Amino acid sequence: MYKIRHDRPNCIGCNACANIAPNFWTMSAMDGKSDIIGSQLGEDGWEELDISDADFDLNLASAESCPVNVIHLIQIGTGKQLI
Ligand code: SF4
Repeated sequence: MYKIRHDRPNCIGCNACANIAPNFWTMSAMDGKSDIIGSQLGEDGWEELDISDADFDLNLASAESCPVNVIHLIQIGTGKQLI
């Protein structure tokens, strides 16, 4: 299990993550930033979603595509930040 963490306040709305993984990412009609579908929104504006091991590679590709490095993947259990 992994956790996606999205530093949404610093997202520049480039659409790369949503292009790669449209089942996980969508672009907001409100402000043009991306949202993790089904995520929890924290008071700090960051979004979080737990994902299965099977969904790791796709979300890693999204994170690696982000030009401003606001998508992070955490390994649940170890707490290790992988990106
Ligand atoms: S790739 Fe990064 S900057 Fe671009 S929309 Fe996704 S989170 Fe925002």
